[in-house]
Amino acid sequence: MTTATATKKADAVGARAVDAARTALLESVDVVDIGEHLGHVGEDERVVTHFFACVRPGYKGWRWAVTVARAPRAKAVTVDEVVLLPGDEAIVAPEWVPWRDRIKPGDLGPGDLLPTEDDDPRLVPGYTTGDEVVDQDSVREVADELGFGRTRVLSLEGRDLAAQRWYDGSHGPDAPIAQSAPGSCSTCGFLVRMAGPLSQVFGVCANAYANDDGRVVSFDHGCGAHSEARLGKKSRPQPLPEPVLDTLTWDELDQF
Ligand code: SF4
Repeated sequence: MTTATATKKADAVGARAVDAARTALLESVDVVDIGEHLGHVGEDERVVTHFFACVRPGYKGWRWAVTVARAPRAKAVTVDEVVLLPGDEAIVAPEWVPWRDRIKPGDLGPGDLLPTEDDDPRLVPGYTTGDEVVDQDSVREVADELGFGRTRVLSLEGRDLAAQRWYDGSHGPDAPIAQSAPGSCSTCGFLVRMAGPLSQVFGVCANAYANDDGRVVSFDHGCGAHSEARLGKKSRPQPLPEPVLDTLTWDELDQF
């Protein structure tokens, strides 16, 4: 069982007040739940905490902590608080992780909502145009953003995060399927070009037989369904021999 040790020199009167601490504990806790005195720690000047084992079933390693204090020149202590605290061997619940940090991509189901914070750095107000380059053609789009379109658009940070995530993931050049591909997406007829800054690195695969059909792929990604993929000589099906016309035997046919 753990025995507490003093962290700073404990007040002598407070350290001796084991009985006073136990009496205070008994006012709040059933006697059958209180075990042996485990020690004390000096919390502050004339402030001492006494620990008693908690023998309540299910509370292995927990300790009752009774803090006593003494006024300057006072000969007796008064009780500050009585609490139950986990010791080093106590079974405690894992640290709470907010649901936002626990949720993983792909966890959302139909009807689930995942609100975005107002200050999410991946988004900026629509009128700033975010990662979208402003030119004459996009002025109308910007006007739409201001009045009737999206309130927020992707920020430069949000764009860079997405680009890096896509590039590092299973649609980038390091994916195993890309490593053994006969050609890259940049030379594939099934690649659909996108618009905007991301189009410099990514396109969309439009091959119904490819694993990435309908997904963003980097130009240096690739797969075996590349439009120009051809089977090697060894892999091609062998031509069938000429059919043989058998004029000597015949097959028995069922009689109906
Ligand atoms: S079929 Fe394969 S190589 Fe062609 S675009 Fe799609 S993923 Fe890229």
